Amino acid sequence: MRKVRYTYNRETCKYEPFYVNGRTLRNHVLTFIMLSLIIALGAYLLSIQHFESLDELLLKQKNEKLKVKWNVLHRRIEQTQQELAELIRKDDYNYRIILDSNPLESSIREAGIGGSEKINTMQIKDFPYIVSDFLSLQKIKHQVQVEVQSYDDLEKILTEKLLAWSARPAIQPVSNKQLQKLHLTYGLRLHPIFKVWKDHKGLDFAAPHGTPVYATGDGKVVMAYFSGSYGNVLYIDHGYNFETRYAHLSKFQVKQGETVKRGQLIGYVGNTGNSVSSHLHYEVLYNAQHVNPINFFQRDLSNEEYQKLIDNGSENSFSLD
Ligand SMILES: [Zn+2]
Repeated sequence: MRKVRYTYNRETCKYEPFYVNGRTLRNHVLTFIMLSLIIALGAYLLSIQHFESLDELLLKQKNEKLKVKWNVLHRRIEQTQQELAELIRKDDYNYRIILDSNPLESSIREAGIGGSEKINTMQIKDFPYIVSDFLSLQKIKHQVQVEVQSYDDLEKILTEKLLAWSARPAIQPVSNKQLQKLHLTYGLRLHPIFKVWKDHKGLDFAAPHGTPVYATGDGKVVMAYFSGSYGNVLYIDHGYNFETRYAHLSKFQVKQGETVKRGQLIGYVGNTGNSVSSHLHYEVLYNAQHVNPINFFQRDLSNEEYQKLIDNGSENSFSLD
């Protein structure tokens, strides 16, 4: 049975049956749809104002992860800066001082920073920490390049120093085991054969005939011959303006033109030439000028041994040639 609806008629003051026609029904449906759309639109506008979309939530999560990664990168940049600063400090104030070289000018370390790879700050101007880290990385890159070059230079300086140190006459030409007496008669003395005062430009190492004689530094034998005064004598050119001479040898162990190393056997003690007894006459020249060889023996002696050598030698004021 069809359900009848009633409505109140104010004119008749009675409830009367209400029949819905097609037009009224359509109007009701349209009104309902319009109201629904308005409510849906309002809800949508409200949601986009106060609630985030899924994409936004995902982007935010991604952004947080990126921030964490960037913080890790930033800390590593700071750590690298500290390690690089320590490397530079060692370069300037340890290695260069040891090698008698001046620290690098700060202008060299700073030059060129930001020149070749200028950042387009307009694109990331809203992210100052990115700009800051980019500039830090640029500076690190430049300083590493300078430091690599600096260490290459230090290696060359060190190699040159090692060659110079190896060439320097720095040990005794006769071992202390065979040494009988060291005659510290450098300078004016009465010649033991000619009995006249002459300049004695070396030291005399009294040792048994045949005692080994060693090169006191790396170098090249430039002379190996017999001289009336020196007897059998060797001249070694060490480079770096150093030269040494070994006189009165009984026998040569090396030939003229041969390259020798410090400590290499070059001949044997003898009594050839103007000499009164078996010994080695040893000379050191720097810039073609004779210098006292006693100043070059510290390398292979302790302080006590060196002092003993000086004390022992001081007791003998005469020379053997
Ligand atoms: Zn002498």
